Amino acid sequence: MSNDKKEISIVIPAYNEAENLPVLCDEIRGIIAGVTDSYEIIIIDDGSLDKTSEAIESLRKKDSAHIMGIQFRSNFGKASALKVGFTYAQGEIIFTMDADLQDDPKEIPNFIAKINEGYDLVSGWKQNRKDSFIKNTSSKFFNFITSLFSKAKLHDFNCGFKAYRSEVAKSLDLYGQLHRYIPVMAGNQGYKISEIPVHHRKRKFGKSKYGPVRFLNGFLDLLTVMMLTKYFKRPAHFFGGLGSAALIIGLVIGSYITYLRLIYGSIQGRLPLFIAGILLVMVGVQLISLGLIGEMFVKVAGKEDEFLKIKKIIN
Ligand code: UDP
Ligand code: MG
Repeated sequence: MSNDKKEISIVIPAYNEAENLPVLCDEIRGIIAGVTDSYEIIIIDDGSLDKTSEAIESLRKKDSAHIMGIQFRSNFGKASALKVGFTYAQGEIIFTMDADLQDDPKEIPNFIAKINEGYDLVSGWKQNRKDSFIKNTSSKFFNFITSLFSKAKLHDFNCGFKAYRSEVAKSLDLYGQLHRYIPVMAGNQGYKISEIPVHHRKRKFGKSKYGPVRFLNGFLDLLTVMMLTKYFKRPAHFFGGLGSAALIIGLVIGSYITYLRLIYGSIQGRLPLFIAGILLVMVGVQLISLGLIGEMFVKVAGKEDEFLKIKKIIN
């Protein structure tokens, strides 16, 4: 593959998807032929144990102008696969698609149309989801909670089918399971985000890699994302605010207890209140310290973020 800019990149993370990939690539080719010839398909083999890497090699042999493979040494997860795919992608518009044929390439032109309306990121909204009942229900709950904390108000945050203006994809710092929060991260960076309904299909070959258990960790990830994006950029204010409130209430209680002791010679059976006061003072001081430590981290690690805020330089 040459080093030229492309119109479209399609990034596909694949973990044990040997049977799906040839079908998917054929489908993509069929659709994209009507759009452009300036495209690339980047498949990331995320340490598959089946014949995924052989499948990628034979696809590339057939169409080296459009297909590129990246093989991971081990299974590092979808977020890592996407991050590496985004780094190599040369397209002005970068798509992500799941390898399992659940996403229908027919939607590609609809995504492009939406991007051309001026959006930076367009996310798929799976209609009539073809997943298990438990997964669908927990997913609805997850989407509801996530949208409460996100600037981007979507119905479906974790659809693998998305289209990005190149800059957005490349600005994302993905690791762990954070791919689920891409719209939250991008939204909090001020990018314009939208969603389009997409046709969702049943997985054809192979098994789903994610059970409902993932939602347990999901909320911790949401906290992380909020911490790393908009909400806790000023930890001294966030923790300090809570801490000051606790400290002030604790001090008021302490003064009251001291007053009782001085006037009546005993604390008049207010032991529980006394203990609560001490606890509040301690928690308050700890929260304030936590905020100040957090502030040091932001100072050390949060600097380069400022440049992501620039939309355009006019000169
Ligand atoms: N995937 C991956 N690495 C993993 C797990 C999954 O690259 O460790 C890929 C997988 O091959 C698929 C996509 O991520 O292309 C979504 O996975 P899956 O279909 O299992 O998730 P589900 O649709 O069940 O949520
Ligand atoms: Mg799937």
